[in-house]
Amino acid sequence: MESTDAPGTTRNPGDVADVIVIGAGVIGLGIAWTAARSGRRVVVVDPAPGTGASFAAAGMLAAVSEYHYQEEALLGLMLDSARRWPEFAAAAGPDCGYLATPTLCLAADAADRQAFADLRAAQEAHGLAVQPLTVREARKAEPLLAPGIAGAFTIEADHQVDPRRLVAALLGRLGDDALVPARAASLAWDGGRVAGVVLEDGQELRAAETVVANGLGARDLGGLPVALPLRPVYGDILRLRVPEALRPLVTATVRGLVRGRPVYVVPREDGTVVIGATQREDGSGAVSAGGVYELLRDAQALVPAVAELELTETTARARPGTPDNAPLLGRVGNVPGLIVATGFFRHGVLLTPAAAEVCRQLLEGRTDPQWDSFRPDRFASQPARIPAVSAAERGGS
Ligand SMILES: Cc1cc2nc3c(=O)[nH]c(=O)nc-3n(C[C@H](O)[C@H](O)[C@H](O)COP(=O)(O)OP(=O)(O)OC[C@H]3O[C@@H](n4cnc5c(N)ncnc54)[C@H](O)[C@@H]3O)c2cc1C
Repeated sequence: MESTDAPGTTRNPGDVADVIVIGAGVIGLGIAWTAARSGRRVVVVDPAPGTGASFAAAGMLAAVSEYHYQEEALLGLMLDSARRWPEFAAAAGPDCGYLATPTLCLAADAADRQAFADLRAAQEAHGLAVQPLTVREARKAEPLLAPGIAGAFTIEADHQVDPRRLVAALLGRLGDDALVPARAASLAWDGGRVAGVVLEDGQELRAAETVVANGLGARDLGGLPVALPLRPVYGDILRLRVPEALRPLVTATVRGLVRGRPVYVVPREDGTVVIGATQREDGSGAVSAGGVYELLRDAQALVPAVAELELTETTARARPGTPDNAPLLGRVGNVPGLIVATGFFRHGVLLTPAAAEVCRQLLEGRTDPQWDSFRPDRFASQPARIPAVSAAERGGS
């Protein structure tokens, strides 16, 4: 007997849930929680929730300040997600660490100021709101800024969230029963549809819909009908404690260009700051000494008192990059039972509410041509391949 509950959901005998989400980073948890809120039974599979890119992320919700030329479709998704953040955060609860602090952009010298002027012109051409400031005004708002900065402007709309607190909050909302602390080895197939996952120990979990949201780990998942062109883009990031006498170090998120190199300082509610983030594709997941040096040097060029903080943590993680920097988000061809949500690169925290909303609508059977730019199979030279036998029968991954 089949029963239908939430819109678009068909329950089959033997299913452990309506939806299985592989991966408990911000993306998987945002999708899982949104699906659960819309009435679905959800299970999340992850041996180590929140330990991937989401563990490192600064949590800037930087739709405007991270605008890049020729990424118009991505810009639309980023702005949509930024608009969704206040409601998403309110529903996730005050413990998710969302703050509506503005972003202050600083240029260290005249060349940096010119680079920012070009960026501002492009932002304004898209109707994005940026407010120029004099250096005097910037230093009045943030007294610990370096006296020698060459230019400043603010972006009121770019806020922040603490991704570690967000992960903990969403896990708490979902409840212990929703988490399966195991690694997914492969998708499970049944008669041409994805029927769930095969865990590393061979156990099969079944559901009407399976969402692949395990970040870079999706590269190694068995049974995918299409190759996912993900690549690791490593970043070093620092956490520092601000001594009482220097609090607040800054009140806004400070994003700077220092001799062409980007750096940011994100103030948290608990009196710490996050400084990031380098970007390298050299294949090493270890913290780079040169990266730490550059971040501290460039942050001090903007906020000299950074030298007086206590360095409490250095972390490196890989962002899940794609060839066009846009996510792999949506269904794969006509394959039933499968949604892919990975490749969120530099913007996964910002894009969490939008990704969750797209998946909610896909689960309800809706589509939108605006999402075509993010189709997971847009780089594939061949159509989606449906395995003839289940992945478990073929020996998993
Ligand atoms: C240094 C740095 C700074 C960043 N700063 C920002 C920022 O300020 N703003 C922003 O929006 N974005 C930022 N990002 C990007 C952001 O962190 C990522 O886009 C986002 O975290 C991706 O989330 P995710 O859930 O897709 O992946 P992840 O967080 O990597 O989560 C993937 C999860 O899948 C699990 N997993 C992997 N394989 C399997 C498997 N086979 N079975 C089960 N589970 C599995 C892992 O354990 C992990 O928990 C930053 C990234 C880095 C590295």
